[in-house]
Amino acid sequence: MNGQPLLVTCGLPYTNGPCHLGHLRTYVPADAYVRFMRHTGEEVVFICGSDNHGTPVVVSAEEQGISPRDLCERYHRHFDETFRRMDVVFDHFGMTDDPANHERTQSIVRQLIHNGYVYPETVQQCFCPKCSRFLPDRYVEGRCPHCGVMARGDECDQGCGKHLEPGEIIEPTCRICGCRAEMRSQEHFFFKLSAFRDYLLNYLDGLSGTSNAKNYAIGWVSDELRDWCITRTLEWGVGFPGRDDLVVYVWVDAPIGYIAFTEEWAKANGKDWKKYWCGENRVTHFIGGDIIYHHTIFWPALLRAAGYGVPKAVVASGMVKIDDHKFSKSRGYVVWTNEDYLDKGLPSDYLRYYLLSYTNHTKELNFSWKVFQDRINNELVGTLGNFVYRTLYFAHKEFGGIPDAPVDPTVDGEIAQTLSLVRSSMESYEFKVAMDAIMTLASFGNNYIQSNAPWKQIKEDRMAAAATVRSCLQIVSALSILIDSFMPERAQRIWNMLGNPGKVCERTLDECMVTAGPRVLPEPSILFGKLDDALIQDLDRLLEKRVEEANRKANKMKEISIDDFGNLDIRIGTVLSATSVPKSKKLLLLSVDLGGEIRQIVSGIAAFYEPEDLVGKQVTVLANLAPATIFGVKSNGMILAAGDKASLLVPLIPVSPGTRIR
Ligand SMILES: [Zn+2]
Ligand SMILES: [Zn+2]
Repeated sequence: MNGQPLLVTCGLPYTNGPCHLGHLRTYVPADAYVRFMRHTGEEVVFICGSDNHGTPVVVSAEEQGISPRDLCERYHRHFDETFRRMDVVFDHFGMTDDPANHERTQSIVRQLIHNGYVYPETVQQCFCPKCSRFLPDRYVEGRCPHCGVMARGDECDQGCGKHLEPGEIIEPTCRICGCRAEMRSQEHFFFKLSAFRDYLLNYLDGLSGTSNAKNYAIGWVSDELRDWCITRTLEWGVGFPGRDDLVVYVWVDAPIGYIAFTEEWAKANGKDWKKYWCGENRVTHFIGGDIIYHHTIFWPALLRAAGYGVPKAVVASGMVKIDDHKFSKSRGYVVWTNEDYLDKGLPSDYLRYYLLSYTNHTKELNFSWKVFQDRINNELVGTLGNFVYRTLYFAHKEFGGIPDAPVDPTVDGEIAQTLSLVRSSMESYEFKVAMDAIMTLASFGNNYIQSNAPWKQIKEDRMAAAATVRSCLQIVSALSILIDSFMPERAQRIWNMLGNPGKVCERTLDECMVTAGPRVLPEPSILFGKLDDALIQDLDRLLEKRVEEANRKANKMKEISIDDFGNLDIRIGTVLSATSVPKSKKLLLLSVDLGGEIRQIVSGIAAFYEPEDLVGKQVTVLANLAPATIFGVKSNGMILAAGDKASLLVPLIPVSPGTRIR
């Protein structure tokens, strides 16, 4: 605490699809971090919002026949509701398409221009002659100039992951009509990112957060730093000052959303947003590992250039796998937050626990329902739930509440040690270490109650039993405050079962050590229920089915109508002559009688047939295939064959040459 409040943000969810496990991997730890810092007495503002601009929203909206704004509002509400259901609670959840962000973005861009960091340049852009429009970002597909893998216009998403500048993509085709794009020149505006190389190296050196973010960024800045094209030819977005035909690139106005949302929150709460964004600040960004580049390089350079304060920390989460497979919506390897989890009646606390305790924040998380079940049943039910319930149950049954007895100093020591470990771990974004420490305290409690056996003590020495129970209740009380950041719903339940008034989220960590006087306790209830095998099998089957469905879709040929079939001119012909094609081992040149016309056709069947054996045979010919030149020889049609050995399709009963297939 140094007077400066902490501002925590989460990467903005993009409004063209629903919330899934990959999102939660970032949002749940960020929420846990915010809750915990509040328990330490910090003043924290937790800001997020939806990311509305860019081409994917426009493409999706066009496909669905609605306006981009309508699509964004639909998913904005969806994310807002889903986060609340997961107990991820922001102080403000805005939209980048709302007026505050339009205004802040334009103001920052004007400042960049004024400070001399923006310049115009005429560049080659992909243009679709058929749709007669420029093709920004996702409107174009092609090959990555760095690694050669299929990529989209602004990013090599399947290959090396590099950001692609407009016009860089190789063999570009229009995503809408499939037409080959041409290059046309157009004036765009660039941000002088290259001028910030030394500044960024110095900035990154002092950047807090997780090492994966910092190291990735340092590697990139040391390697290459090119200027960024910050405008796009699109109607949807924040207008570029002074130009009606251009909007700013979505990666300019999306992070500026963090500032605009802070402004909206500050206005509604009588605070000053400048305190958070101008000059020294404590801005901490939680992001997915796939957008490190934008948050550690582009964003601080932009803020610096416009005269704002730069973020203090960037915390990047590792990727999510599903059942050992790369997370992929199109391949079916996805777990949807609502459909697959919350709507099945599963508690948010279980998934929060799993996400926070499975592995370190920066490592890959390999999700499986079976492991999820094991962790919940063994750890939450078997250890934490068991200890809390047996302690509360025994206290209620034998003493009617908290007995008047001192707390064992060993127990106090154990709690104090846990507190300090949890605190240092949370401050260094080691959420798993913190969660493990809390579970270790619960295990300690289980051993303590088991070895002291108050159910035996009470028969001979009621005071000794009271001391054991009192000590165990102290652990339960500490656990309730400690798990609030991780499992807020269960934490509150324990808090209530301890007979405490108010909300556990408002308590400070120091209160873990506060000894409550004797009081009556209500009858406790079971905290965590086991996940049974039938449910987990159902969820596994659901995932399997989704993957099968995705496979089927990927392998399915396009359905055609009878009219489409009618467009194929397939005829039986008789081979008049066959000769090999010079310099080719695979090709034969056939002359085929198609009834009233003789066709010259090149066919790749030389490895399987002697030319003389074919003469006089009837073959099936696709007659209206566009002519082509193969090995310098004109070919006018295609001989139909099947399988690896090019088995020719022939009529069972000879027909006259030229007979059409129907
Ligand atoms: Zn690539
Ligand atoms: Zn097109």
